[in-house]
Amino acid sequence: AYGDLLLQCREREDWAVDDVTTLLSPPTAQDKIALRLAAEAARQETLGDVVDVRGAVEFGNECRKDCFYCGLRKSNRHLTRYRLSEEQTMQAIEDLYNMGIRTIILQSGEEDERATASIVDLIRTIKSRFGLRITLSLGERSLADYHAFRQAGANNYLLRIETTDPELFRRVHPDDDLEERMQHLIWLREAGFLLGTGGLVGLPGQSISSLAQDILYWRKLGANMIGIGPFLPAAHTPFSQLEPGDLDLTLRVYAVTRLLCGRTFIPSTTALASLHPEGQKLGLQWGANSIMLTHTPEEVRAHYHLYQNKAKVDLDFACQSILDAGRQIPPYLRWTQKEERY
Ligand code: SAM
Ligand code: SF4
Repeated sequence: AYGDLLLQCREREDWAVDDVTTLLSPPTAQDKIALRLAAEAARQETLGDVVDVRGAVEFGNECRKDCFYCGLRKSNRHLTRYRLSEEQTMQAIEDLYNMGIRTIILQSGEEDERATASIVDLIRTIKSRFGLRITLSLGERSLADYHAFRQAGANNYLLRIETTDPELFRRVHPDDDLEERMQHLIWLREAGFLLGTGGLVGLPGQSISSLAQDILYWRKLGANMIGIGPFLPAAHTPFSQLEPGDLDLTLRVYAVTRLLCGRTFIPSTTALASLHPEGQKLGLQWGANSIMLTHTPEEVRAHYHLYQNKAKVDLDFACQSILDAGRQIPPYLRWTQKEERY
């Protein structure tokens, strides 16, 4: 019966939460393999074997919000706060450009309104100097900001819904509202961005059927990118003592997302690489087709402390994951394998 459900993934339009929950819970080891292979076939047919590599610069860790799971939350007084200058950020971007990378991600904590002008300037400078594609991951901002960022030349916006379970969303976000966050995604699309969203796996009390709801939400939204990470505990947060999200469950969420959300970009996330030494490779083998490496300057890297034991996903790490997964390094990337590894 599980196999029948897998076969329906190609054609079926109307998915009920119960059926997606069943898809996420293969009853036998054989069914689990079948799930992975179906996701791999879907990924192969739609996006091929080349893994897209993008580069992120975490340009600041100041945040006005207090999400219970995140090390950057404003109540964390143990964190050294930083904000890179435009020069420092441009240097990191030039490095990424020289690696051959063609899409960059600017990420930060949720800064206040005063940051808008400097972000607009940064987008303009990057566009005029390097012509790179720009993804923004800055949290919730005003509708006017979204338009200003888009007009300055940013292409994509990544705003995870985190969880679509209203009760759970409220419990982990003391200053956010689920409906509002959904509205922000609509605004972003209206402003002309390609949409990235996604969520966390392993939040306290999160059920499999709530993850099934998340996948159906991403599917309905028609997201262009879906970033999925296991929850990982961060020091000096209310969740510091909780268990991390489960590797196996996270991989099953990757696979079902690939099956139900089609040609969307699914990165094998840094959180997955941080959860398990082979996590990033496994993500690529369970439906993911891209990697977002981080190139934040060494001096501040440790201060972008979202969670403990964050893996250092640099160009070498990303390319090794791709090779380990048996996939192809993109031809635009300037990387030569170090001989001494073998
Ligand atoms: N502040 C922006 C926002 O919230 O959208 C962008 C930066 S935020 C640090 C990026 C992502 O980090 C969030 O969407 C969240 O899913 C993830 N994150 C934060 N804390 C985490 C944790 N403890 N474990 C795993 N992922 C986490
Ligand atoms: Fe701030 Fe984003 Fe962390 Fe929430 S997830 S505390 S908005 S950086």
